[in-house]
Parts: sequence; C-alpha cells; structure tokens
Amino acid sequence: MEPQRSPLLEVKGNIELKRALAKAPSRLPLPGSRLKRGPDQMEEDLEPEKKRTRGLGTKVATSRPRATALTTVPQTQGQTAVPKVPRKTGPRCSAAIATVLKNQKPGPAVPAQKPGTTAAPPVVGRKKPSKRPAWDLKGQLCDLNAELKCCRERTQMLDQENQQLRNQLREAQQQATALGTERRTLEEELARMRAQAEQGQQELGNLSTRVLELEERLGTQEGLVQELQKEQLELQEERRGLAAQLEEQERRLQASEAALSGSQAELASLRQEAAAQADLLFKREERLHGLEMERRRLHNQLQELKGNVRVFCRVRPVLPGESTPPPGFLLFPSGPSGPSDPPTRLSLSRSDERRGTLSGAPAAPTRHDFSFDRVFPPGSGQDEVFEEISMLVQSALDGYPVCIFAYGQTGSGKTFTMEGGPGGDPQVEGLIPRALRHLFSVAQELSGQGWTYSFVASYVEIYNETVRDLLATGTRKGHGGECEIRRAGPGSEELTVTNARYVPVSCEREVEALLHLARQNRAVARTAQNERSSRSHSVFQLQISGEHAGRGLQCAAPLSLVDLAGSERLDPGLALGPGERERLRETQAINSSLSTLGLVIMALSNKESHVPYRNSKLTYLLQNSLGGSAKMLMFVNISPLEENVSESLNSLRFASKVNQCVIGTAQANRK
Ligand code: ADP
Ligand code: MG
Repeated sequence: MEPQRSPLLEVKGNIELKRALAKAPSRLPLPGSRLKRGPDQMEEDLEPEKKRTRGLGTKVATSRPRATALTTVPQTQGQTAVPKVPRKTGPRCSAAIATVLKNQKPGPAVPAQKPGTTAAPPVVGRKKPSKRPAWDLKGQLCDLNAELKCCRERTQMLDQENQQLRNQLREAQQQATALGTERRTLEEELARMRAQAEQGQQELGNLSTRVLELEERLGTQEGLVQELQKEQLELQEERRGLAAQLEEQERRLQASEAALSGSQAELASLRQEAAAQADLLFKREERLHGLEMERRRLHNQLQELKGNVRVFCRVRPVLPGESTPPPGFLLFPSGPSGPSDPPTRLSLSRSDERRGTLSGAPAAPTRHDFSFDRVFPPGSGQDEVFEEISMLVQSALDGYPVCIFAYGQTGSGKTFTMEGGPGGDPQVEGLIPRALRHLFSVAQELSGQGWTYSFVASYVEIYNETVRDLLATGTRKGHGGECEIRRAGPGSEELTVTNARYVPVSCEREVEALLHLARQNRAVARTAQNERSSRSHSVFQLQISGEHAGRGLQCAAPLSLVDLAGSERLDPGLALGPGERERLRETQAINSSLSTLGLVIMALSNKESHVPYRNSKLTYLLQNSLGGSAKMLMFVNISPLEENVSESLNSLRFASKVNQCVIGTAQANRK
C-alpha cells in the first residue's frame, strides 16, 4: 500500500508541476503567430510538446512522415533563386518555362541547380542528353519536353506534399486548440493549486506559529514539571522526616501513657497518703496553735515578770576629739553572779567643787549609784542592745502595745540608738530598722500557722507642741503643714494624725526609704531653725494588724519608737538675748512634755483615776501605747564625759523614777 503523502509534500509537488506547466505555453504556437511560422518551426516546436503531452497522456498525431522534400524545397521567402513551384501547371507554369528557355544559353542542357542545394537529384532511369548542337532544335525541344515532364512530376509531388502539409497544419491547429483547452484547464488547475498552495502556506504559517506556541508552552510546562518534580522530592523528603517524627512521637506517647498509668496508680496512693498527712497536719496545726497561744501567754508572763515598764541605761563611747573622763568617773559594777551577769548597775562619781574640805583639799567625789533593768556600757554594740529588746518587740505581734523611748541630753546617743549611726553601716543600724526587720521575719514565720500581718508606718516630730510629718513629700517636704492629733472616728480609741502620711510597709527597703525621707525632712528643717531635731520629739509608729482567717482571730497593736528631745536644761545664769528667749521657750516646751511623760507614767503606775495625757502632744499621741495593757521601755542615754555629769545625773534620776513604776498587768488587744 502506498504511504499516504503529507499535505505539505502534495502541495510542493503541485507547485513543481505548476512551474513545469507555466513554461510549457511559451513553446506552444500562439494563435496569432501560427501562420507566420514555417511548418518546420512548428514541427520543431511541436516535437517536444508531443513528447511532453505524451507524458501527460494527451494523444497527439505523430504518424505524419517527415517530408524529405523539406531539404529540397526552399523555405526562405527572400530566396529568389528558385521560384516557388506553382500548385498547378497552367499559364503561369508555361510562362516560367518560356522564361527559362529565353534565358538559357544554347549549350548542353543542364538541369538548374537550386542555390542552397548541393545538386539536383539525378533522374533515375533517364539517360542524360548529350549536348545538342544549336541546330538540333528538335532534339532541344525534346529535351525541354522531357524536362517539362520532369517538372510536372515534381510539381505534382510538391502538390501532394503541400496537401500533406496542409493536413498537418490542420492537425496542428486542432492540436493547438486542444492544447489551448488543455492549457486553460491546466491554468485553472494551476490557479486552484496556487490557491491551495497559498492556503497551504497560510495553514503552514498558522501551524508554524501554533508549533512555536506549543513549543513555548511545552518549555514552560517542562520547567513547571521540573519544579514540581523538585518540590515533590522535597515533599517526599519532608514526609519521610515527619513520618520519622510521628513514629518517635508515637513511641514517646506510648512511653508517656505507660508512665501516666504508673503515675496515676502512684497518684492514687499519694492521695491516700496526702489524706492521711492532711489529717495529721490538721492535728499538728491544732497542737501548734495551742502551743503558739501558750507561747504568747508565757511570753507575756515573762515580759510582765521583767516589768511592763523597763528602763535600760546606755552610755555612749567617748568620741574622737572629746576629753577622756578621769578613771572611775563611770563604773559598771558586776551583778550578783559576777562579771558573767549582764550589767544592771552604774556608778557615777561627781566631784563637787563647791564643797571643800577643812584642810582646803578637794572633797572626795560623790558616788551616785543607779540600778536599771539593764545597763549598756560604752562598748555595747547595736546588735547587743537589740537582742535585749527583740522579745519586747515581738509582743507587739502578739497584740500588746509597745513603746520604746530614748531619753537623754542632746549628744548622748538617742538618735544613734533609735535610727542608727551615720553611713548606712549595718553594724550601726538602730532599733527602728532592726525591730522592723525582726517583725517582718516573725510575721513570715507566723504566716505558716495561718497568720497574716500588715504594717503601716508613720513618722512625725513634735516641736514646740506642734506636730509635723517627717514623711511629707513634694511641696510639703520639710515645711509640711501642721498636723493635728485626732481620734480615728467618733467613739474610737484609735488616734490618727491629720495631714500625716501613713505608709504600708512590707520589707526592709521600704523602711529604709522612709527613714531616709525623714532624715531629709529634718535636714531641710534644720536650715530653717538651728538644730531643731535635737529640740523635738521624733515619733515613729507602726500599726501592726494580724489576722488568723482560719480561726477568725485578729490582733492589732501599735509599736512606737520615740527619739525624745534633748533633756538638758538652760543655764539659769545665761543672759537672755532674742535667740536665748526662743531657746528658753523651746526648752520649757520640752521640759514640760518630758515631765508630763513622767507624770503620766507615775499616774499609770499609781493607778490614778486621771492620767494627764492631754498635758502634752507627746503623751496625747502615745496614750494608746502607754495604757494598762502596754509595755514600755525607756533607754536613758548618758554621755561619758565628765563635763556632762550634771545632765547625766538628771537623766539618771528621771529614769530611776520611771524604773520604779509598774504599770498594771498587760492585756493583749485581742478581738
Ligand atoms: P542625740 O541624738 O542624743 O543628740 P546622737 O545619737 O546624735 O545624740 O549622738 C551624738 C554623737 O555620738 C553622734 O555622732 C553619734 O554617732 C555618736 N554616738 C552616739 N552613741 C554612740 C555609740 N553607742 N557608739 C558610737 N557612737 C555613738
Ligand atoms: Mg538626736
């Protein structure tokens, strides 16, 4: 079976055929030029056409024999050597013969040779006449007749040939007509083919464009496919990783589940154990609470045995630049159990220059002995002092009001004892920071037993019977408006200072910040009025509130730490200038408030019906810390210098009086 040809090849084939056909008409005889061309030319033209048309299947007559006479018949019109042979013999032929005869010279009769031909064909079977003599006219006539006959034969032959040529011409014309028809058909076919070819080319162009597009798309698609393949590989890799992770997680999950079931079993047993422990804990808590209440009771008993009013004497060391007192000026005799006993006694020797002996020699110094709950010689550290009072401070947590005073002349060490020494050295920290740290720590311990404590601090100074806030900030700093002491509410026992800040505190740093602020406030005030701090009472108060929510217990008590104004008196012999008058008024106010304090303590000790709290701002502010249930401690601060002996004796005497007081039996402020 012949393979199917593609349309493109077919089109190409058609184009070639068209080209071949386009050449063909040029060789065909044109209708107008047909007669102008000789038969030979036509024959020549027709010859290849015959060959070609034969190939195309067109039948063209080819049986016509080639005229041999063509070689002998002159074709060129211009040739005049031999005139055309007339078709028929007639008058024209006779005239020709006559002309020949006229022009011929007498001689041997030689047939005229045609120019262009080599020789006339020999007359077959005829004997060439020998040259006739001029006189032989008859013989010449005979020759001419023979020649005429011969010419006639030739003419006849040429006529035949002419006829043949005419036939051939007719045939050729017919053939030309057929070929013209064929040409038109072919031209039509060519036009159709051209149209087809154009269409084919257009289609080819379209197809090429389409192919280009498709190739481009193919390129894009291939790129996409490559990307997708790459992505697929990555995803496969990731999937493998995730599968491994999943496997690992499942393995872990299984392990966790196993561990969980183990833990659940353990949990159940632990819960049982916890229930048993909770029961035990409850019993222990009950017991602990009972013990705590017992501790508080015993602690209070102990404090009461030690005395609700206690007096500690503290002698400061001699400071650099101060003159050392003579030996024996201050003595600290040992207790009954010897030097191991904490000292409680103090002897002060005073040589009275006014008293002279009869011999004129100075009188022996007078010894003044004092006994207190505790005496701290100059070398005693702050920690040693605080240790002695820490139990008392703890009573405030148990709900007993506690009040600690520092009494003494200016420069005897009251501020050092209460607030501490300069420089922020922890070794010289005073009672206030130490007491608060102790309270915070014990409150923390008691929180384990269900107690919750809160602390609110205030710090005021009483100068010339006016109260000022030492914790004032902003514009009030150092110049804080006057404060008033008021009852917290109608019928309330609680006192509060108006315009004063009450700051909740819960840690040491907050307390330190407050003491720092108070120092700054005092420093500002000092520039306004010289050394006012030593001429005023500083009262640090901490409101302590405790609650045992589980048992519905509450307790509240104030802890007051008071740095009293200098107790020194004015020299009566001093001239009274304007400054001294002011100083005298200050001193009178101080002395009045200090003596009121003594009187209040006495009245309380003597259980008098009237206690003169209102006689001074100090006692009025402290009345809740001095009552029957309160515990009081007074530090009497003494200067070690001989020059201060008079003031020291005054302080010691005042303190001794206080020391003799016993104020009721303290009752905890329980609700
Ligand atoms: P007061 O407050 O009674 O006027 P201060 O507390 O200001 O006296 O003390 C006066 C000076 O003595 C201060 O420089 C203080 O540092 C110093 N001082 C007081 N007591 C002691 C002590 N126990 N140890 C060392 N220095 C002290
Ligand atoms: Mg002071």
